[in-house]
Amino acid sequence: MTPISDGALTADAPGASSVAGGELISTNPTTGDEVARFPVATADSVAAAVARGRAAGAWWEGLGYAERKRRLLRFRSLLTQRIPEVAALMTSEGGKPSVDATLEVFVTVEHIAWAARNARKVLGPHRVPGSLLQPEYAGRLEYRPYGVIGVIGPWNYPIFTPMGSIAYALAAGNAVVFKPSEYTPAVGQWFVDVFQEVVPEHPVLQIIHGKGEAGSLLCRSGVDKLAFTGSTATGKKVMAACAENLTPVLVECGGKDALIVDADADVAAAADAALWGAMTNAGQSCVGIERAYVHERVYDDFVRRVVDGAGKLTYGDHPGSDVGPITMPGQREVIKRHIGDALAEGGRALVGGPDSVRGPIARPTVLVDVPETSSAVCEETFGPTITIARVSSMDEAVAKANAVPYGLGGAVFSRRNGVRIARRLRTGMVAVNSAFSFAVLPSLPFGGVGQSGFGRIHGADGLREFGRASSIAVRRMPSTVPLLTFRRTEKSVKLGHRIVKLLHGRSK
Ligand code: NAD
Repeated sequence: MTPISDGALTADAPGASSVAGGELISTNPTTGDEVARFPVATADSVAAAVARGRAAGAWWEGLGYAERKRRLLRFRSLLTQRIPEVAALMTSEGGKPSVDATLEVFVTVEHIAWAARNARKVLGPHRVPGSLLQPEYAGRLEYRPYGVIGVIGPWNYPIFTPMGSIAYALAAGNAVVFKPSEYTPAVGQWFVDVFQEVVPEHPVLQIIHGKGEAGSLLCRSGVDKLAFTGSTATGKKVMAACAENLTPVLVECGGKDALIVDADADVAAAADAALWGAMTNAGQSCVGIERAYVHERVYDDFVRRVVDGAGKLTYGDHPGSDVGPITMPGQREVIKRHIGDALAEGGRALVGGPDSVRGPIARPTVLVDVPETSSAVCEETFGPTITIARVSSMDEAVAKANAVPYGLGGAVFSRRNGVRIARRLRTGMVAVNSAFSFAVLPSLPFGGVGQSGFGRIHGADGLREFGRASSIAVRRMPSTVPLLTFRRTEKSVKLGHRIVKLLHGRSK
């Protein structure tokens, strides 16, 4: 099928966000029409937000798990009831096709509900095992909120991605000050306003607006922890700024995810997942499939199916397109460069080509025979492109998949060895016989290694990320072998020695 909109293919893209007169102005990425404007945060306004958040956080923690759960579940109900409203805003501000926007909210509400329902079980006070050497002490562990969490988000999943930190931080009893991407401030403001309907008493979730400078102010504002999601380059700046106050950080950065197809795979399913994983959200997904390594026995069949599917995708600025516009003007140059490098270095484009990127629209592009050293294989492209390489074994596929500094997600297709191959990937998450599925299971932690960052959102680890371990040891009876006192005797130390030898002295 041909592109839905030819008009958008001819014009060079308008900018998607700007600051004028102390206001941040967000615009539609294809038309350039203004969508919203907000005052840009200053050092004073950020400090005031954090101070308000600190008081609100103490109140929110005091509500307890049950009441926080009730409020968060109400929040997720309101979001669910208003999906068409927010999806339309996501389309006009970020260019995201309506179906992609709708699916994003589906997954987001699942996470909010999971965090709300599981916070007490994961973080609440519980006993931990004692010690045979000193049985008089009982251990109690709980995870107390940090206080105020700063959250800095990207634009590509403007509700799902920041909510991976925000919902879990709130469920853990923290207040949050959120800085959305300058490309999607209205989406951020929308859900913060909805939350304030559910929690009108105190500013437990606040928002500040601006470009990188506002994010930098938040890093230095004295928040108790900073959760960042965005590019690796910015993640490093965030860490450096947070280091000034020893503010702990969680960094969720970019990726270059690979999909591996073994000889025994369901090739049709693998091609379908590769196509969707590479092209959904116009390839602007941190866990987007950007590379495929395919066993030589099924390579031709896989390539034929991907090419066939890619050729049928609709692309353009129509909200019903399969592949929508590229939101950030700067990213269009990166996509263009990666395709150009791949072709100049001996690669071939089976779909798309040197002129795939025109204005804000990038055409789905399938590349083969691209050297592993090419930017198209090594760097995050963040566009609707995929490189496909033939491999002779799964050892070769795993080695090539692991040969990039990123380590976020990945996918493996194999009828017999999926989990075995998945465990060999140096990434935080892997989907077996699917793509992206780890992100929709709220109980699975999400995050990367290497240049993809560290720390985890989602799941029990995602809740613990927003609580500080509070360890309490309680004496419950007098000591039979007193050791933690200067009143210890030679006899008690000897007895202690005998017990330690008994417990730990054997070689097996
Ligand atoms: P970005 O790094 O340009 O911006 C992210 C956020 O950081 C924005 O809100 C921005 O205003 C802010 N920022 C910029 N400079 C800053 C500074 N010096 N100090 C503090 N904050 C600053 O990223 P982006 O273009 O918005 O998002 C795309 C990137 O995000 C891609 O690399 C993608 O892979 C990554 N991403 C990662 C995940 C994940 O979970 N690992 C999820 C979504 C997106």
